[in-house]
Amino acid sequence: MTDHFAPPPARGCSQTPVLKQRGQHEVFCGLTGIIWLHRKMQDAFFLVVGSRTCAHLLQSAAGVMIFAEPRFATAILEETDLAGMADAQAELDRVVSELLKRRPDIRQLFLVGSCPSEVIKLDLANAAERMSAQFAPRVRVLNFSGSGIETTFTQGEDACLAAMVPVLPDTDARELLIVGALPDVVEEQAVGLLNAMGIGPVRVLPAPARNAEYGIGPNTVYALTQPFLTETHEALQRRGARHIAAPFPFGEEGTTAWLQAIATEFGVDAATFARVTDAPRARARKAVAQAAETLRDKSVFFFPDSQLELPLARFLTRECGMQAVEIGAPFIHRAVMAPELDLLAEGPVIAEGQDVDLQLDRCRAAAPDLTVCGLGLANPLEAEGLTTKWAIELVFTPVHFYEQAGDLAGLFSRPIRRRSLLKMEAA
Ligand code: SF4
Repeated sequence: MTDHFAPPPARGCSQTPVLKQRGQHEVFCGLTGIIWLHRKMQDAFFLVVGSRTCAHLLQSAAGVMIFAEPRFATAILEETDLAGMADAQAELDRVVSELLKRRPDIRQLFLVGSCPSEVIKLDLANAAERMSAQFAPRVRVLNFSGSGIETTFTQGEDACLAAMVPVLPDTDARELLIVGALPDVVEEQAVGLLNAMGIGPVRVLPAPARNAEYGIGPNTVYALTQPFLTETHEALQRRGARHIAAPFPFGEEGTTAWLQAIATEFGVDAATFARVTDAPRARARKAVAQAAETLRDKSVFFFPDSQLELPLARFLTRECGMQAVEIGAPFIHRAVMAPELDLLAEGPVIAEGQDVDLQLDRCRAAAPDLTVCGLGLANPLEAEGLTTKWAIELVFTPVHFYEQAGDLAGLFSRPIRRRSLLKMEAA
């Protein structure tokens, strides 16, 4: 299958001791996920119960969507609410009633918790249950937290999808579920490849609308497309669904291994698999090879941020010839990450959690050719002469599967090329 790649390392990183860090961390909060989630669910509305800070974060992150019919908003908790003087639940009921009266297109409403709503212990689960009973069957009301306390920005999507799993109906049908909010064009490519192998029907979580939903049960098998969907993974297991463990579909190797794991589950023969994947594999290989010319033998250092760090390090080291110095991830879910850790050759420090000052010291000492980090760290590190890549771009850019493999490699090669051009101009 992965014929032209190096065989899996004799000793991968599965047994590498993990450096656990618990200190100050610098990440965006889970509200960020609303920006891509609201595009995937056409009948959903995200009501953040938060402060003016939360509203500003959403507005600036979603600036490009200004002309779209808004499918998210912030119910602002005023100082009186925060001081516990007003009945925030009654106020929330009023806001939601008005919203649903004004917007009959809303079929599912998410009450999204924030730092302020958690601080005053506003019970959104209870509110969602009460409102679901009131507005059923037209509107389903669910809740999840996007709070920035002890979380990272991709956990918003995980919390949202995990909230949807328990309300899906039961089924005994043998079905494949692809889990993760991918850009439509990427999702179509993935489903197209699976259908071409004769696998179907293929369901997707999140479904584009409530009327496109399906059931979950003991014959559901699912594959994750994003490494940060661990809470959703647990929720699906609780429904009796079975996980198809695989590396994540980043790069030619990751995509092939991901597809192969599903093909094996559905008994697809080797000739069919090759017929469907040979051409896109060749395109991916060619596109990655171009960017890899810049990346080969360069070192890379990951700060914990997007939770994509381990699969990306695997892609950059195995397909682009980079050397990983440290791979920091906010959380490492052993069962979900095992296939990635098996492929990553021993050598880099694997760190979980963050103590930003200590990690900055290690990064400066290592002086890597490329540092992948959050926006807050990128500017100061650039000023110190390090070349950086913003981790958040990896979530906002289509990077999964074969046709995007070259773009994924390009995201890392561009900052290195830009830095060397600047150096040449300065010389
Ligand atoms: Fe800030 Fe918390 Fe609101 Fe996120 S949820 S914008 S971290 S206050």
